Amino acid sequence: MFNFWVPVGFRFGAVALAAVFAWLAVGPQTALLVALAGLSVLIGLHLYYLKKVSDWIRQPDALEHVGDLPPAYGAWASVFAELRRARRREARERDEVAEAFHRLVEAASALPDGIVILDRGGIIEWCNPSAEQHLGLDLARDRGFLILNLVRAPAFTEYMMRADFREPLILTDTVAGTTISVQFLPFQKTRRMVVSRDITRFTRMEATRRDFIANVSHELRTPLTVVGGFLEQLIDQPEIAPAQRQRIEATMLDQTQRMQRLIEDLLALSRLETQSGPDREEEFDARLLVEPLVAEAQALSGGRHRIAVDAVDLRLRGSPDELRSAFANLVSNAVRHTPAGGQIEIRLGAHPDGAQFAVTDNGPGIAPEHLPRLTERFYRVDKSRSRETGGTGLGLAIVKHALARHGARLEIESEPGRGSTFRAILPAARVRMVTESALPA
Ligand code: ADP
Repeated sequence: MFNFWVPVGFRFGAVALAAVFAWLAVGPQTALLVALAGLSVLIGLHLYYLKKVSDWIRQPDALEHVGDLPPAYGAWASVFAELRRARRREARERDEVAEAFHRLVEAASALPDGIVILDRGGIIEWCNPSAEQHLGLDLARDRGFLILNLVRAPAFTEYMMRADFREPLILTDTVAGTTISVQFLPFQKTRRMVVSRDITRFTRMEATRRDFIANVSHELRTPLTVVGGFLEQLIDQPEIAPAQRQRIEATMLDQTQRMQRLIEDLLALSRLETQSGPDREEEFDARLLVEPLVAEAQALSGGRHRIAVDAVDLRLRGSPDELRSAFANLVSNAVRHTPAGGQIEIRLGAHPDGAQFAVTDNGPGIAPEHLPRLTERFYRVDKSRSRETGGTGLGLAIVKHALARHGARLEIESEPGRGSTFRAILPAARVRMVTESALPA
């Protein structure tokens, strides 16, 4: 206020003062002329500044125009200063809004979920890269086009037409071969937002879970049917011949043991899968673990195989129970899958990565196409052979998990007709060599 009225008063005062002097010195006519001239100059100046302001208002975005504003005097100095300040404030606020907007767009672009913004007619206004990938869109190319013309899956068209979006749509026949869930959400007043999510991993896990349950049920049903059938027979024919009764009882015992082994393996696997690391870490002498395994192998073989052992002195750190279970499975596999007369070699020693526990047999070997799947639960090359030998189909899955928990890995080398080597390789961090060994890898 003060900045405005003082210069105004000062200028008009100066004109009035000049007029008074002219009156006193010359006369009233000259005084009138002087006043008129003074006021004209003042009005001209104001008009000049007014023109500048009017130009600036018409083109407020031409920033250099602000710079063009002449250094104003008097009341205009404060007006121009106010204008410049307001302009700068507005620019700053606009930058902040633009920055916030960009942040939002970047956040939406980085989301793993896809987002498509549709106008009321279903035309694409914007989408993020995940949506481009999920639905096969390209924002640069497809903006302004109907989504129905671009996502051609019949289920998608039907879903959009039905306009009941309470449940998401599951798209399985996508271009990328993935499974995508799609949901429409109301957005702003008339727009709609399409949220897409890649659920391939989840559906695969679901399928694995279903397969697993089906497998377990199937594995249990067969022995249960056998036991049930024999029990019925025993009840219906109490006078059965002792020799036949003995045969039936032996089979029932065998089938019961098979179910027991399956349950034990399932529990072992579930324990290994639910915890992330070995349950009880300790350092132990690896030979104490290997020696009983050799005895077990000999018992299981019943003298049908030649079993050789070569173990060096070394100490391992980890869970002895879990490693014993992994190694025992490898040994029992070699004995069970190698025909009588075969040779089995159990080796424990150094490996370039740390240490290895290796079991080599000269059994039937495994064709290369089976190798990547051997550690899957219930995967067997020959189902009936595996069952005949008392296998549960879970042995190598247990080995894989027990080793993974120790940062160790399983390597399988096999040649059909010649035999196989299963090698558990333990990382150096878990191994302490007691004597130097020159075991070939
Ligand atoms: P199983 O209880 O059937 O032995 P595993 O998970 O231990 O189940 O092994 C899976 C499959 O791998 C076996 O069914 C068998 O076909 C194959 N396999 C495992 N070890 C050997 C081996 N030493 N020689 C030949 N085949 C083997």
